[in-house]
Amino acid sequence: MEPILKIDNLKTSFLTSSGEVQAVRGVSFTVNRGDILGIVGESGSGKSVTSMSILRLLPDTARIKEGSIEFHGKNLVTTSKKEMREIRGEKISMIFQDPMSSLNPLVPVGKQVAEVILQHHPDTGREAVRQEVLELFRRVRIPEPEKRFHSFPHAFSGGMRQRVMIAMALANKPDLLIADEPTTALDVTIQNQILRQLRELQEQSGTSILFITHDLGVVAELCSHVLVMYGGLVMEQASIDEIFEHPGHPYTMGLLASMPDLEQDKRVRLRPIPGSPPDMTNPPKGCPFAPRCPYARKICAQECPDLAALGEGHLSRCFLQYEDAPADAHNPFRNGE
Ligand code: SF4
Repeated sequence: MEPILKIDNLKTSFLTSSGEVQAVRGVSFTVNRGDILGIVGESGSGKSVTSMSILRLLPDTARIKEGSIEFHGKNLVTTSKKEMREIRGEKISMIFQDPMSSLNPLVPVGKQVAEVILQHHPDTGREAVRQEVLELFRRVRIPEPEKRFHSFPHAFSGGMRQRVMIAMALANKPDLLIADEPTTALDVTIQNQILRQLRELQEQSGTSILFITHDLGVVAELCSHVLVMYGGLVMEQASIDEIFEHPGHPYTMGLLASMPDLEQDKRVRLRPIPGSPPDMTNPPKGCPFAPRCPYARKICAQECPDLAALGEGHLSRCFLQYEDAPADAHNPFRNGE
């Protein structure tokens, strides 16, 4: 278990005309070499801002206010802009949700991947770089790589464009790959192919993956561990098996209950978690999930519980765990249980 990324008490905020949006409010976690860690949560939970904070790809209005992001022992919060440029794309790379807006529509895809290699290894010969790009295209299963090298992004399907992005992200053999909702814009069949491929590539190269998604089903396909985020905080953290078999936090139970069940009657409606996420310009003093939680009690509106051990490697932020709570025996978000 060699930790390569260690985030401690990260707090990131945005300044807006309506006030300070406290997007991430004290997040801590570790990614070990070879881990595939999922971060799951609804929009506005702080998961993408956490990943953008790691790469320091935040807009000018954002500030990392507190905490540290140690990558191989170096604190990325205080690293110079020049060093961050060297780390991005070389040691840590990223795959974004929409490959079309991440690729330059006017440049052939092969040349775009070659540029990523040349940016960090400018002395590599032209033919050597071309061969590296072709090998990457083969690894991500782009058919006819020699021919596709010269194609423009518009000639590719959504799934093929995402494969180009994966090839680009792997070009410099990064230690950490951050994938932010990379399969959201794809249909389910292509999504499964991409997930399988990410797993294979991770097994071959040992690259650690931080996988950001709103979909617990996707996390179950790919990840070994998961962090559940809500209101800028980690609400629960455990192995995939533990999260699915013994969820400890009511928000996780809500996410599990809202997953489509292929075996259920098609006339049964999906069960969204009632209510909406908190306003992060004025986050609640107590547990941010309290207004939507069927177990909420008086103390939940007054105090925010700490993230505490629920079992081995299983953390949860809920007052329920200090009581004889129903916990995983009953999911209040599922009708008729
Ligand atoms: Fe629900 Fe209270 Fe637990 Fe928050 S702390 S999830 S409101 S029971």
